[in-house]
Amino acid sequence: MSLSWQWAEPTWRGHVDRVRAGTSLRPAEWPNGARVAVALSFDSDHETIPLRDAETQPGKLSQGEYGARVGAKRILDLLHRRNIPASFFMPAVSALLHPEEARSYVEAGHEVGIHGWIHERNMQLAPSDERELAFRSAETLERVTGQRPVGVRTPSWDFSDATLDIIRELGLLYDSSLMADDEPYELLANGEPTGVIEIPVEWILDDAPLFDPRGNSYSPPREVARVWMDEFDKALEEGTMFVLTMHPHISGHRSRIVALEQLLAHVDSVAKGKVWFATHGEAAEYVRRMAKLGDPKPRLAIAK
Ligand SMILES: [Zn+2]
Repeated sequence: MSLSWQWAEPTWRGHVDRVRAGTSLRPAEWPNGARVAVALSFDSDHETIPLRDAETQPGKLSQGEYGARVGAKRILDLLHRRNIPASFFMPAVSALLHPEEARSYVEAGHEVGIHGWIHERNMQLAPSDERELAFRSAETLERVTGQRPVGVRTPSWDFSDATLDIIRELGLLYDSSLMADDEPYELLANGEPTGVIEIPVEWILDDAPLFDPRGNSYSPPREVARVWMDEFDKALEEGTMFVLTMHPHISGHRSRIVALEQLLAHVDSVAKGKVWFATHGEAAEYVRRMAKLGDPKPRLAIAK
């Protein structure tokens, strides 16, 4: 293992330049005169979190089962009542365990995106394994839902040295796993534009770290909602984008769906209709068009 303080300049520059934020893609205006874009996303991991770690005990699996049995339905119901489109990132194994649920997302007008095979840790995989699982995941989601995914959120937002190459080989429109901005941007690979759009995420805007009652960082959902509202208010003020990541097995609980309900009520009261709710795919397609970016540029197949 090399020591970072001994690296020559090309080495540390090379690491930073491998995957980097390029041009900001904030459009001059959002559709329908909206001041801000809101993209809600739900990672329907369900049982794949324990399965990923080969934890097969029924007790562990039941926590994920709640996400499918209760959480996803509660979330779909809320989105339906509010007429809000959203993106659901679903590991392929989760889609195979719950095919009706995966189809119900698409039937309700939502987007289904790639989220790994079994929520694998891609940074621990050989590039050829990561690639094979990504392709198998895309094909599985298409077979189950009838809709070819156009975007990916890597499991746990892990991004290996091979991930961007795989995204390009899959010909995806966007990724939603990186954190270099509050608004969409184009991904650069070794300084070169790729045409792949990043819809950035942040741990601040995720339900997972703060809602674990057994963790060290538990926050009451109503307090978390306050943080999300502050994030939204700045996004509105700056005319940018608000991207939220939630999980049916987490936010689908009764005391936690309150955070999303409070956020949506707040959005209504401050944005007064000047908000564009979009799936990640719709938002990526819109900013791509406005920036006249052209189609994502597929690169040659990576070494198998
Ligand atoms: Zn996940």
